[in-house]
Amino acid sequence: MIPKMISEVLEEQDNAVLQEVKEYIDQLISDRNGADLPVEILEKNRLGSVTYRQERVYCGKECKGCPHGPYWYAYWKEDGRTHTRYIGKELKEVVV
Ligand SMILES: [Zn+2]
Repeated sequence: MIPKMISEVLEEQDNAVLQEVKEYIDQLISDRNGADLPVEILEKNRLGSVTYRQERVYCGKECKGCPHGPYWYAYWKEDGRTHTRYIGKELKEVVV
């Protein structure tokens, strides 16, 4: 169930804002995608220092929509840490 205060605000937004909200939510879900949650990797591409992965993600909540996606994510290493960026349904090259 989407809280009423959220659905009421969303219904007033135009499509461009809704698209941004959608991407924001997908990013939130991917940030929470810790090692304890299953991720299904469908495809993997390496381009330069960036690895692109198409994944189906589980948000870990009691959710009827799981798994979500598939979505593309970019992975790269910086200062010894792995960074992730949500790309979307279509694969696009990212500048890191
Ligand atoms: Zn879910």
